[in-house]
Amino acid sequence: MSVSKSTQLKRIDRDTERLTDSPLYQYRVQEGYHAVPGKGNPDAVLMLIGEAPGKQEAMRGEPFVGAAGRLLDELLQSIHVTRDEVYITNIVKDRPPENRAPQKNEVNAYAPLLRRQIKIIQPQVIVTLGRYAMEFILAEFKMPEQGRSISELHGKPLRAQTPYGPIAVLPLFHPAVAFYRRDQKEILKSDFLVLKGLL
Ligand code: URA
Repeated sequence: MSVSKSTQLKRIDRDTERLTDSPLYQYRVQEGYHAVPGKGNPDAVLMLIGEAPGKQEAMRGEPFVGAAGRLLDELLQSIHVTRDEVYITNIVKDRPPENRAPQKNEVNAYAPLLRRQIKIIQPQVIVTLGRYAMEFILAEFKMPEQGRSISELHGKPLRAQTPYGPIAVLPLFHPAVAFYRRDQKEILKSDFLVLKGLL
């Protein structure tokens, strides 16, 4: 009997909880945090991939529930997309101390979980939020844009070949950048209109 997507995703949730080998596992336990595997619709056409959970997310075990999440909700609403329709996750699934950028060994530790999520959901559109998620996906699908910067690629729909067929990848700036650069919010808003055109 085939196992439903939802059951397969629950297994990933469990495996993320149990990832004791992760360089961030001890920190999670010490702080009383939760792992943040990802959340959303198993049949989502759109998957959004962020960087790593912040404090709010680690306290709740859910992605994008803090300030960046509120802005993400606003941006999704602006194109009439709800969270129930999409799947949201991160490349790194535990909070790094002090919200520092994820390290290579941390990205590597969680990569198999993200690969499984993509394989199960088979999204037709992947939005990367921020540089780290963009670099991961460009490398993952051996895309010709590897090595190019997010300033060049944000808001440009790219094509990727996946084992389940061709998909669109749209690199976007991370919503948190809008907190320290006002012009970024306008850029995010117009890049979300590009996303709307892909759905
Ligand atoms: N920033 C991220 O990249 N991911 C989250 O889940 C929250 C903030």
